Amino acid sequence: MTHTTVAILGGGLAGLNAARLMQQAGLDFQLFEARDRLGGRILTVDAAGVPGLGGYDLGPSWFWPRMQPAIAALVEELRLPSFPQNSDGDVVFERMSREPAQRYSAEPQEPQSLRLVGGAATLIHALAKMLPTERLHLSAPVTGLTLEGDGIMLTVAGADGSPESVTAEQVIIALPPRVAQVGLAFTPLLPPETLTLWQDTPTWMAPHAKFFALYDRPFWREAGYSGSVQSMVGPMPEIHDATTADGQAALFGFLGVGAAERRRMGEDALTNACLAQFTRIFGADAAMPRASLYKDWAADPWTAAPADPVSTGHAVFTPDWVQGPWAERLVLAGSETSPTEAGYLAGAVEASATAVSTLLTRLDGVRA
Ligand SMILES: Cc1cc2nc3c(=O)[nH]c(=O)nc-3n(C[C@H](O)[C@H](O)[C@H](O)COP(=O)(O)OP(=O)(O)OC[C@H]3O[C@@H](n4cnc5c(N)ncnc54)[C@H](O)[C@@H]3O)c2cc1C
Repeated sequence: MTHTTVAILGGGLAGLNAARLMQQAGLDFQLFEARDRLGGRILTVDAAGVPGLGGYDLGPSWFWPRMQPAIAALVEELRLPSFPQNSDGDVVFERMSREPAQRYSAEPQEPQSLRLVGGAATLIHALAKMLPTERLHLSAPVTGLTLEGDGIMLTVAGADGSPESVTAEQVIIALPPRVAQVGLAFTPLLPPETLTLWQDTPTWMAPHAKFFALYDRPFWREAGYSGSVQSMVGPMPEIHDATTADGQAALFGFLGVGAAERRRMGEDALTNACLAQFTRIFGADAAMPRASLYKDWAADPWTAAPADPVSTGHAVFTPDWVQGPWAERLVLAGSETSPTEAGYLAGAVEASATAVSTLLTRLDGVRA
């Protein structure tokens, strides 16, 4: 049986930032990630849809450094280059299907949304590079936590599906609270108020899906459009230019079709409907992309709990994420638990830093 001082559950931005801070503090940790890749909701792919640093962000695209000091500081510390979201050119508003789309000159973006060169996953790669690989366990979902006299015993599903046990003095849960509530069996049970709180905390963006069309050239820019669209016609209510920093042309949109309907329609029908919208707005060049990409987060159980597609929004902050007998052994660190930027990348950085500092104080107290 493996023993560690701190077990970190989740290898998204929050879990990796917690690991970085544990490493800086010189503390022993092991990180367990359910998927076969790090990053969680951060998912950057190439034109073939392969995860990496290909520049197409199927998860988060933007950060706003002037409003979000925590992510600004991390991006600066990791020396990651960024570039502004394209907003040069006209914006389009589609009000109803029987009216032609309206075209407006755009106001300068305020605050300016920034993207990372290579995609948001550059954050994940830079953090992972700082950490010893033997401490990062992929395809290792934690399924259960048992409170014992001097710590917690974790049950981790091993590579062949057989359970392995890990003991830890403290546990950082860097998952959306709803995903933790659904996926982790607690012995003894979490107190009802904690259970309800986790269940009632929506996972930001979990109900959503993104569609990308990749083109040989940014023909909309040539026609004076920025690529930004607001539409009440659909199927995408919000569309943006997604051209990469090295000039690979692309548009993306958030699907406005609900999760159940998306499942019913299937990816091919959705792709056709999205391309028809791009073509209606930007002309015939939009009809024939060189590739398309689609990610439905509501269909991904490591991000979306069954309640997420029906109950959405930002988490309401509470200082008491864990109560009862678990309170001295567990801290929550996922973005949803941030007091200032719940749901955002900045929230993941902020919440994980707070969680680690709580834990360091606790461990100091135990050892003093
Ligand atoms: C489509 C979309 C667009 C977004 N756009 C933006 C944006 O533009 N700007 C912005 O700031 N934010 C945006 N966000 C939100 C941003 O992605 C999140 O705030 C951030 O990535 C959350 O990081 P996290 O580490 O807290 O959680 P996650 O990234 O959800 O990480 C949790 C990790 O835990 C793992 N896990 C789950 N269950 C288990 C288990 N039982 N055992 C072990 N591991 C487990 C998961 O696989 C995952 O890797 C967007 C999100 C989505 C989906």
